[in-house]
Amino acid sequence: MSVETKDIENVVVVGSGPAGYTAALYTSRADLEPLVVEGFAWGGLLQQTTDVENYPGYPEGVLGPQMMEEFRRQAERFGTRFITDDATKLDLSDQPGGTHTVHVGDQEIKTRAVILAMGAEPKKLGVPGEDELAVGRGVSYCATCDAAFYRGADTIVVGGGDTAMEDASFLAKFADKVSVVHRRPQFRASAIMLQRAKDSENIDLVTPYVVKSFEAGDDGGPLTRAVLENSEDGSLKELPIKGAFIAIGHRPNSQLVEDALDLDDEGYVLVEGRTTRTKLPGVFAAGDLTDHVYRQAVTAAGTGCMAALDAEAYLRDAPIDPEAHWAGEPEKIEEAAEAAAS
Ligand code: NDP
Repeated sequence: MSVETKDIENVVVVGSGPAGYTAALYTSRADLEPLVVEGFAWGGLLQQTTDVENYPGYPEGVLGPQMMEEFRRQAERFGTRFITDDATKLDLSDQPGGTHTVHVGDQEIKTRAVILAMGAEPKKLGVPGEDELAVGRGVSYCATCDAAFYRGADTIVVGGGDTAMEDASFLAKFADKVSVVHRRPQFRASAIMLQRAKDSENIDLVTPYVVKSFEAGDDGGPLTRAVLENSEDGSLKELPIKGAFIAIGHRPNSQLVEDALDLDDEGYVLVEGRTTRTKLPGVFAAGDLTDHVYRQAVTAAGTGCMAALDAEAYLRDAPIDPEAHWAGEPEKIEEAAEAAAS
């Protein structure tokens, strides 16, 4: 179904997930009639999770995809429009009040403000069994989300950085045993976090090993073992496990803006202080695209809200491009600003 677009939109949200949908909710309630280019795989990483038990307001937990569907419906209720496709290119203006262009294939969408919420993806090992056993069958990319499902189980964490150590320490509260599998004897993790893992009675450090494959039981059920290869002498060994947590880093989906915006060394979009403003006027960034530390649904939703408020303030204060669709109705901008303030 094709979506009606304006000559010039007030605000286009690129990406979805908790950050994008929350930005859409707030901007739609401020009468800015946002358009969300939500991506073909709308809903972001939560579409790949099962139970979410750490999002406030769901005392019984909720399935990730259901939660995203509800976020989306809430934004839709206030008039948000959605394009369920991927943005393919962004032409971002560097002029205050300038018009930005979001490309979706051949379609060009002009807009006064853009909220970027393209998220980040956990890096994968790319070994046999990983994809098949992900999502509820034993392989996970989020210990904070899934550790509690492995009470009393034998588990591994793959990686040697701070995330691996943090995941291992968290997982050790639930699991019987946590083996941290790392490809070299030296760890990248900070000394204090490594020491904490070493001090834990049920955490083992297994080096220098890489995962060769994840194996399901004979009945094709959940994960039962990981096959490891010694990265120095090539010898193999098997670990019987029920859970494997991959913690080898994240990759922000910032490719579309890598030439236009300032990114940190790992590719995360840089914002000004405790705001969502990027270096370009009218361009805001929220969620995991800007955050390599917290990466939670609730923090992403929080920054989505901030981006909406920042965009509203910008639309209120920025000079209006004479082309702009509602340039003839400046009172509408004032109304939106007043609605945001109340
Ligand atoms: P890092 O990039 O720091 O570490 C990734 C780890 O995964 C490295 O040990 C790396 O090995 C290993 N690795 C990468 N690719 C592969 C692969 N293909 N196969 C096997 N192993 C692989 O990522 P983190 O997510 O741990 O941390 C990201 C940032 O977030 C860091 O700055 C970190 O300090 C910060 N952070 C801080 C926390 C805190 O302070 N509480 C908590 C969590 C993260 P190798 O070392 O050999 O390259």
